[in-house]
Amino acid sequence: MLRLASLGSGSKGNATLVASQDTVVLIDCGFGVREMMARLPRLGLEITDIDAVLVTHEHSDHIAGVSAVAKAASAPIYATHGTRQSGKLDSARSVVEIESDSRFAVGDIEVSAVTVPHDARQPVQYRFFHNGVAVGVLTDLGCVSAHVQKAFSGCDMLLLEFNHDLDMLRRGPYPATLKRRVAGDYGHLNNDQAMTMLTSMTSGTPNIVVAGHISEQNNSLEAVSERLGDWSKASQTQVIYATQSQGFDWISSDTAPLSVNVA
Ligand SMILES: [Zn+2]
Ligand SMILES: [Zn+2]
Repeated sequence: MLRLASLGSGSKGNATLVASQDTVVLIDCGFGVREMMARLPRLGLEITDIDAVLVTHEHSDHIAGVSAVAKAASAPIYATHGTRQSGKLDSARSVVEIESDSRFAVGDIEVSAVTVPHDARQPVQYRFFHNGVAVGVLTDLGCVSAHVQKAFSGCDMLLLEFNHDLDMLRRGPYPATLKRRVAGDYGHLNNDQAMTMLTSMTSGTPNIVVAGHISEQNNSLEAVSERLGDWSKASQTQVIYATQSQGFDWISSDTAPLSVNVA
């Protein structure tokens, strides 16, 4: 059994948790120690319960709190060489350097670090395995590469970026350069790209999909749920929406799929 939860998801800060019975892994931390102390109790955790902190890339919504929180948790940090070289991690703390597209173990959870197209030095996203269950955490990518498609197929639970609605981004307040960056192949997934990822999975769809890293400026829950609605009914997939302020509560690979009446 694996569980997945978030303490916040979006450009103002991310902190995702994956846990087995015995191991708790924090993926990214855009929040400081005080903020984490305030947010962790709603998942029934204390900061010292965290066994490891895995970093995806050096953008501040993912890395800002990593060093301080890892220190408070007495937990090792895992990051790629490029992420480490960004200088955004406290050099006084030891970092376990991981290779892109390698597999390693954290406690009883097996982790796979998957290269993604994003405008950082050596970004990866993670897939987790435990007792035949697979959980994917996949945000901050500009397009769905064949490599990503393959690596994240067959997850039981998948946290997937639904960053922006392309029309809302085009009409929205961002300066032109930022619009180009977000929409580009090394920026963020739009709602249609995220749907393409889901509908073209080769080895079965997840039981639960979490829509995450949803832009507060350039997207809306309505726009995302409009895309996911019919598909989730047809595929009998449970859909959850991660928010910036709350993230989402624990979901478990044991959770039975929703029984949906397909009329
Ligand atoms: Zn991000
Ligand atoms: Zn990023």
